[in-house]
Amino acid sequence: MKVRTRFAPSPTGHVHIGNMRAAIYNWLFARHNGGEFLLRVEDTDRERSTPEAIQTLLDAMEWLKLDADGEPLYQSTRMEAHLEAAELLLSKGLAYKEDKGGLGQGECVIFKMPGTDTSFEDGIKGTLSKAAENMQDFVIVRSNGTPVFHLANVLDDIEQSITHVIRGDDHIENTYRHMALYQALDADVPKFAHLPMIINAQGKPYSKRDGDAFVGDFRDKGFLGDALFNYLALLGWSPGDDREVMTRGEMVEAFDLSRCQSSPAQVDLRKLQWMNGEYMLKLPFVEFETTCFQAVEKAGIDVDADYARAVFGQVRERIKTVADIVPMVAYFFTEEFEYDAKAVRKKLQKDGVLEMLEKVKSIFKELDVFDEASSDKAIHDFIEISGLNFGAVMAPLRLAVSGIQSGPDLFPMLEILGRDRVVGRMERTITLFLS
Ligand code: GLU
Repeated sequence: MKVRTRFAPSPTGHVHIGNMRAAIYNWLFARHNGGEFLLRVEDTDRERSTPEAIQTLLDAMEWLKLDADGEPLYQSTRMEAHLEAAELLLSKGLAYKEDKGGLGQGECVIFKMPGTDTSFEDGIKGTLSKAAENMQDFVIVRSNGTPVFHLANVLDDIEQSITHVIRGDDHIENTYRHMALYQALDADVPKFAHLPMIINAQGKPYSKRDGDAFVGDFRDKGFLGDALFNYLALLGWSPGDDREVMTRGEMVEAFDLSRCQSSPAQVDLRKLQWMNGEYMLKLPFVEFETTCFQAVEKAGIDVDADYARAVFGQVRERIKTVADIVPMVAYFFTEEFEYDAKAVRKKLQKDGVLEMLEKVKSIFKELDVFDEASSDKAIHDFIEISGLNFGAVMAPLRLAVSGIQSGPDLFPMLEILGRDRVVGRMERTITLFLS
């Protein structure tokens, strides 16, 4: 039988990374098995499931390249079918009506649990069971006539011929009820696999309070969809060897529910940062360049294309996320760059720095050719003759030409800036802080 999985989110306007991880596992499982991955939008809460909330969800899936097969099924369109099924259960004596609470607000439909112990083989957690006495009858249609999650969810899984339900372990209790519903409806019970939740450093469910928790946050902060996908795939699953940065094809090939861990997985944003850096480095250079051009343009920075290309190439290895680009390159494009005030006090406003910078400036001015090799040699010769140490020359020089203490290797950077900018910047620095 063809594997059919689904992602069945209830749109709220934000897509939590835990939900997205469930979507990723369903996608990987379907693709690994040559099956289908379907989308079902559980949009019955009309207040929260606004068109914008649904769009946010679709955008997040597109960004992560989670392509679904066929058209999405919108649960809200299925109300009639849900209510018909409730009628059927009533007519078979498998459900009954009751005025819950006796408030005279009408009757709800209640599903009658069969009164047997339930047990199933969870694809991740192994055998799970629950005794009959711990399972109560439950509402499937509210007194206002609307179907409850359990009924809608099960009926739509039947409608979509879902073979494997992979979802968070907060649904385990629901699954016992759902199994009884499948049986009452004479439908095949799908296989279930419950993913352990993702947690923060304190072992609590990972939430917005712990940092970025929604897919959109990562997108806004300049992460790459492929990197977040890879990171989330490994949050609770491993290919069984020490591979971490994997192509989608490699993940599809290696994915297996039996290699999903059954204990909670802890979010480590630094690891995601690292992984994103790896993906940035793997981007084809043109794509990286385009990303950089877009970032500077968005920041309103005017650039000369050839000069900008040289700059982008120089900082490439230091860029971990798209959001790093502008802060890391901005000073290349303006002679009015800001200075790190603390670094100025510590490294620049010191005895001897003025003389040193004046001397280096005149050495630079006299070089026949001003490039990486010649500036490198000139500085090393100067250090040798002056007896100053390397840091005492390099740190003030870097600050003088960039305003900050960190950045790409200094000599190639000087070549890119070119003699005029370098000398001009040194003069400006001297005027601002040393005279
Ligand atoms: N809409 C439910 C949720 O987002 C669906 C759960 C499921 O069956 O996957 O929690």
